Amino acid sequence: MIQKVDHIGIAVRSLAETIPYYENALGMKLLKTEEVASQKVRTAFFEAGETHVELLEPTAEDSPIAKFLDKNGEGIHHVAFGTDDITAQLSQAADAGVRLIHEVPMTGAGGKQVAFLHPKSTHGVLTEFCSGGEH
Ligand code: ZN
Repeated sequence: MIQKVDHIGIAVRSLAETIPYYENALGMKLLKTEEVASQKVRTAFFEAGETHVELLEPTAEDSPIAKFLDKNGEGIHHVAFGTDDITAQLSQAADAGVRLIHEVPMTGAGGKQVAFLHPKSTHGVLTEFCSGGEH
């Protein structure tokens, strides 16, 4: 079952240039930065109550975030829903005819299990499911 909006993923060209905006202009607390090799990104997490903001900076030219930035520029990249059972959540989506990017969850930032649904099947919103982990 989906429990909350876990985080909103925002693609940025540079964490160093973007972090001050969230810290100083919005007054949000930087929780941590972390490189996620499997997705070729460096992330920075900010706290916004129960929900987090995840900034995503590409670490390679073939990073999915680099491709997103080339096409769309900086901005909202995905919405992540926290679920208590990611496998069941993926089955439910697949059964409803949604195209999955990941049939099997992978390990994302914070040691969470994560999987993405294809935006062509989700009315334009790249949708992530996540469960477990520390944040
Ligand atoms: Zn995410």
